[in-house]
Amino acid sequence: RMTTTIALVTGANKGIGLATARQLGARGMTVLVGARDAARGRDAADKLRAEGAEARSVPLDVTDAASVAAVAGLVEREYGHLDVLVNNAGIIRADGAGLPSETTLDSLREVYETNVFGVVAVTNALLPLLRRAPAARIVNVSSEVGSIAVMTDPEGALFALTSIPYPSSKTALNMVTAMYAKELRDTPIKVNAANPGYCATDLNHHSGFRTPEEGAEVSVHLATLPADGPTGLLWGYQMDAGG
Ligand code: NDP
Repeated sequence: RMTTTIALVTGANKGIGLATARQLGARGMTVLVGARDAARGRDAADKLRAEGAEARSVPLDVTDAASVAAVAGLVEREYGHLDVLVNNAGIIRADGAGLPSETTLDSLREVYETNVFGVVAVTNALLPLLRRAPAARIVNVSSEVGSIAVMTDPEGALFALTSIPYPSSKTALNMVTAMYAKELRDTPIKVNAANPGYCATDLNHHSGFRTPEEGAEVSVHLATLPADGPTGLLWGYQMDAGG
């Protein structure tokens, strides 16, 4: 059973997640296509299989504890281990004009449930199975808008962004990533945060200037790091220098 490389991608029915599943499948991995909507997940897995990938949809709402536990149970029963976990599912919300003074706690909670708490829930549920793989990789899909330095640079392109929920959720996710990397530093498991760059997806009404495939390359790079690769980094688009 250990001869097959198993990868789980959350939010893999579209956007960067689907492209990530496609690229991992093309590398010969068995890809579990996580999707909160079972029908959308099946459609995506069908598409990937038609392209030649070993793909299977798994119903997974990262905010639903029962759903997360069910996926961990399925992976344990069917594969006995997990080699790659890509925590890709994410949402964006803004209230009013997106000003801090207009932010509601409801929108903040909703975004954190998926972008932060969902990552911790899924990671903790699957960590026992990741530990059973020879050299597992965990990738948390973050963003440069999570960087306080980037967001507060008056000369920077992102200075105009003022919304609290999404950027601060990615800041928290970066810290979550660093903490897992520290806990796991004496194991073969590497945990890194990916910055896909600004990619055209439903998340931003297709305003991004990169393709989902280009964004996915960042996640795939971190999902396939060699043994001497880094851990605990935010890495990716324009951040190759370690920003
Ligand atoms: P999309 O909106 O295209 O895809 C988001 C995916 O997450 C969908 O599959 C969606 O499912 C899924 N999802 C949302 N909530 C949940 C949940 N509770 N449980 C399981 N799945 C869920 O966006 P992107 O592809 O752009 O985003 C992917 C990741 O990349 C996100 O983490 C995002 O923050 C990050 N990112 C994106 C950037 C960009 O420019 N696009 C830039 C930087 C980071 P459904 O179809 O059911 O809604």
